[in-house]
Amino acid sequence: MKKATVSLILLAFMACKAQERVIVKEVIKEVATEKKDIYPKNIILMIGDGMGLGQISAGMYNQGNKTVLEEFPVIGIHKPAAIDNLITDSAAAATSFACGIKTYNGAIGVNADTIPVKTILEEAEERGLATGLVATSTIVHATPASFIAHNKARKNYEEIAEDFLETEIDIFIGGGKKYFDRRNDDRDLLSEFKGYKISHYAEKELQEISLDTNFNIGYLTADADPIPAAQGRDYLVPASRIAVEFLDKKGTNGFFLMIEGAQIDWGGHANNSDYILTEFSDFDKAIAQVLEFVKRDGETLLIVTADHETGGYAIQPESTMDSLVTAFTSTYHTGTMIPVFAYGPQAERFAGIYENTEIYFKMRQAYQWAKLLSK
Ligand code: MG
Ligand code: ZN
Repeated sequence: MKKATVSLILLAFMACKAQERVIVKEVIKEVATEKKDIYPKNIILMIGDGMGLGQISAGMYNQGNKTVLEEFPVIGIHKPAAIDNLITDSAAAATSFACGIKTYNGAIGVNADTIPVKTILEEAEERGLATGLVATSTIVHATPASFIAHNKARKNYEEIAEDFLETEIDIFIGGGKKYFDRRNDDRDLLSEFKGYKISHYAEKELQEISLDTNFNIGYLTADADPIPAAQGRDYLVPASRIAVEFLDKKGTNGFFLMIEGAQIDWGGHANNSDYILTEFSDFDKAIAQVLEFVKRDGETLLIVTADHETGGYAIQPESTMDSLVTAFTSTYHTGTMIPVFAYGPQAERFAGIYENTEIYFKMRQAYQWAKLLSK
């Protein structure tokens, strides 16, 4: 600031001290709270299963030192531990995101006493928001299941599938058709959905489904687990686009959407670096697709994180940018802390280091939902 300007301000200030002071104070207050007062209508939570910083780093180098995650202005770190184990699994971790509680490995939307706890997706439905789940695993697998189902054990896939009939989720896209229509109890759940347009991979392409907002949508991408991206699975990017477009149209009160890149984790379990890299690349493209909408929309908060790291995946000293030499310390998950990337209104809340359960409470605060007294 120039000397002359400073003197002018001082003069003006002295001229009418008291009144001026009040005005200056108000202006400062307004500037300070301006950004915080914008709240999102929609929240999209994207989970890269097993995507630790090693996976992100290797994925980025593999893409010519680039990832869309570099565009996120707010970065935080969460502590992923489960209640009964320092090393979490995907069920306990996703239940922490979905319900704001720490629970045991294998728990799907239930607490340590196996009591069901309402999920953020269920509450969004109750509050009149549109909701969606997209995954590159079966749709009844631990991560998506924890947002809509309540079960004491993650492997109870047929029971978890029944829970999809209990919440009027607006759109779900993922594998696992057999858990709905080729069951031990001979029920065909696909015919039990009312007000839905249900279809699947053997019937039509995902791109051919009708986006008529008078209906909800279910699309099953595979009979069991969807294949890896390296073997030709290519639906995550279009599914993310379709889900966002549909929910944006349908959710006049806003929407909640969870999108999962499920198989980064499977590459880690298999200690297969190429598997990790191709799955990260697919997920990175899906994030870019969603971010395009988020930037255009201006009313959507996007959060990208992982449930845990898988494999103890490390980039070794012999590596170059074009030729990565990697190693694994485990065929299971590890206890390393996990990055969180946030973009959009209320993204600032996601800076810092916090327990994974805080993701739930931060999302609630961003929606401006009533504060919970205890959990
Ligand atoms: Mg998963
Ligand atoms: Zn895993």
